[in-house]
Amino acid sequence: MQKKENLYNRSTSIDISPSEFRKMGYKVVDQITELLESIKDRPVRPSEDNEEIKTFLNASKSLPETGDSPDKLLKLSSELLINHSLFNGHPKFFGYITSSPAPLGILGDFLSSAINANVGARTLSPMATEIEAQTVRWIGELINYPENGGLLVSGGNVANYIGFIAAIRAKAGLEIRQNGINSLKRELIAYCSAETHTWIQKAADLFGLGTDNIQWIKTDESQRMDVSALEESIIVDIKAGKQPFLVVGTAGSVSTGTIDPLDKISEICQKYELWFHIDGAYGGFAASLPELKKEFSGLENADSIAIDPHKWLYSPLEAGCALVKDPRHLTNAFSYHPPYYNFEQSDLNYVDYGIQNSRGFKALKVWLTLQQMGRTGYKQLIREDIALAETAYNLFSNLSDFEAFTWHLSICTFRYVPADLEQWKGNDTISEYLNELNQQLLVQLEKSGQFFLSNAIINQNFILRMCIVNFRTTKSDIEALPHILRNFGEKIDRDIRPDLLFE
Ligand SMILES: *Cc1c(COP(=O)(O)O)cnc(C)c1O
Repeated sequence: MQKKENLYNRSTSIDISPSEFRKMGYKVVDQITELLESIKDRPVRPSEDNEEIKTFLNASKSLPETGDSPDKLLKLSSELLINHSLFNGHPKFFGYITSSPAPLGILGDFLSSAINANVGARTLSPMATEIEAQTVRWIGELINYPENGGLLVSGGNVANYIGFIAAIRAKAGLEIRQNGINSLKRELIAYCSAETHTWIQKAADLFGLGTDNIQWIKTDESQRMDVSALEESIIVDIKAGKQPFLVVGTAGSVSTGTIDPLDKISEICQKYELWFHIDGAYGGFAASLPELKKEFSGLENADSIAIDPHKWLYSPLEAGCALVKDPRHLTNAFSYHPPYYNFEQSDLNYVDYGIQNSRGFKALKVWLTLQQMGRTGYKQLIREDIALAETAYNLFSNLSDFEAFTWHLSICTFRYVPADLEQWKGNDTISEYLNELNQQLLVQLEKSGQFFLSNAIINQNFILRMCIVNFRTTKSDIEALPHILRNFGEKIDRDIRPDLLFE
């Protein structure tokens, strides 16, 4: 029989004594400090493969039956993570769109989890709610989209979903919340460029539209939406009895960083009374730069914008942000008032603004660095990332064994082309071979831990891609890249070039 518990003096606790907590906390901070100090001398990623990683973890071990010492566990976890992680905080990390985490943001997340504010309801998070509201407003001010509403979410995908759902509710009528999308007489159609990030497929799928009701509009030679094709497509769909409701303009495409013609898209949205959503998950913060005013013109007319502090504000993951011109569109789309929530209904309760119920305090890390840098500081960081991508583009343009493709915002694309194949690169067999060569080059470079790039596909060509959202990167990091790529490239070329190419 089980012993009767003494609940006056509980025998088990997950709590840690203040002195132990302090000691362990200092130790963790020391380890993080050492990591940050030494990050540039470490490999960008571990050399082990997945099986070896599993071995280090003892991945198949079952759930421990009894407890263990917090100090020991924390020590073990920092060893596992510091010795076997990929570091996007490394100055030579340029893969995908993942930024280095701002150190103040790291501490912000630590503090935030200690307070553990539930920013779903103001009554549970009086100060955190105000800080989030201020953060959202400041993000709008930074990108010249003031007087808006919005909230922080996990990232760009969810921020885009928020705009997508708000658009359906605003354009198909609020009854749809009860009657469902099946009740509509006309099929809803969303428009976006062929370069749009895959969030739109997930959104169309998840929220009942279906991916067949996305019209992918072709792009011009610089990967920007062709707006006359957009208008033609809208006209055809209206004639066919469908209901266009949303156009997505991308401001900083994920492959090459191009910005759709936002001003023209905005005019078309006004003309046909469509919701204008901007996916600025990556590029949105570049709207703060006066030198890019023309490229971002039209942004001020957006009904909603998705923008990621965990990209170009260097917030540690996760921090995305959904902005809307009129916050009532969010409460119209998301609020319910169940009897068990005793909240002031006129009040700012973020549970009414989005998808989540309980919500963490993501805003703190963003709020902190917005003040650490100020508008001027952030503009300079973003500007320098863009200038480094330009440096890379110019560098690869001037080398005879590389071919530079694109430079937009802080993304540069290029590939390795052995000098003797340069004149043949239009040939089908050769271009297939170049794809294979560059693919292997990317894999080997990543494995080496010296740099981390990713890829793009442009006109069926497999292209290397670097995206700099990295405040640690300097010009000498960029200048070191061609030499290393060439060494790998020459070796792979020797190893895998088929005979038929020597004709
Ligand atoms: C990164 C990105 C997304 C997705 O954002 P997550 O933060 O990864 O969810 C969507 N669209 C664009 C243009 C992006 O760059």
